[in-house]
Amino acid sequence: MKKLPIKRAESSGGIVFKKEDGDILVALVGVERKGKIVWALPKGLVEKGERPEETAYREVKEEAGVTGTLVDKIGDITYWYVDREKGVRYHKIVHFYLFKYSEGSPENHDWEINEARWFLIEEAIKVMEYPGERDMMIRAKEMIEKLCG
Ligand code: ATP
Repeated sequence: MKKLPIKRAESSGGIVFKKEDGDILVALVGVERKGKIVWALPKGLVEKGERPEETAYREVKEEAGVTGTLVDKIGDITYWYVDREKGVRYHKIVHFYLFKYSEGSPENHDWEINEARWFLIEEAIKVMEYPGERDMMIRAKEMIEKLCG
């Protein structure tokens, strides 16, 4: 097996929540991979001169079509993946932030995203693809419950 060069990547993303009839709803984005929709959190690369929470706000707006006010940082996740076209092994860190919904609709999601919609938070935890992101959602649920009582 050929040894690939290792590069670091830094992204940032967010969980936007709203309360409706006592339920907590969160926005997820769905991307088609190998013919099935994979549900994940909106996120993207931190650009030069951008603070990670600004990236999170921008990516949530672009990808999921919604905006929110920043509540707090949720945490970081890390993972490895190989970009075969570039021949690079990436070690990626992704920062996640919690936002309280302000405006917009997931129907106005990014064209690169197949679908974006609100989920009951319990449902989101079940359908999310990546364990690291699921942990962020579980942590966010505790934060929201503390915040909203
Ligand atoms: P970004 O949205 O940060 O610009 P990207 O779309 O270029 O990133 P990733 O979403 O990081 O790239 O996906 C690159 C690879 O890592 C894919 O194979 C994807 O399935 C995998 N991946 C994405 N998120 C996670 C995660 N949380 N845990 C493990 N693997 C992941």
